[in-house]
Amino acid sequence: MSRLKGWKEMRKAGLVEPASSLAVKTGDWKVFKPVVDHKKCIKCFRCVVFCPDLCIEMKNEKITSNLDYCKGCALCAKVCPVKCIKMEKAR
Ligand code: SF4
Ligand code: SF4
Repeated sequence: MSRLKGWKEMRKAGLVEPASSLAVKTGDWKVFKPVVDHKKCIKCFRCVVFCPDLCIEMKNEKITSNLDYCKGCALCAKVCPVKCIKMEKAR
């Protein structure tokens, strides 16, 4: 029978000191990830304003989420007026 790791043995996750998010990707926590249907997106930027992790950006004129930092909270999908963001399993 395998023994579960105690909290002192587990890998550090989260922000343990200033700028530690550069080494520890907080997006590792997520279970679901946002996927945008770019044909439906009207570029209103509502998702950008509401994302608590400030990880939605425009790339090549398309809304995209930086999955290194997205925690999969689904707030962007909730506030999108045309419902073009679907949450899918991250792994
Ligand atoms: S799921 Fe949450 S953290 Fe990820 S992009 Fe949407 S609002 Fe931001
Ligand atoms: S809220 Fe929806 S429609 Fe608006 S920019 Fe984001 S993905 Fe596009």
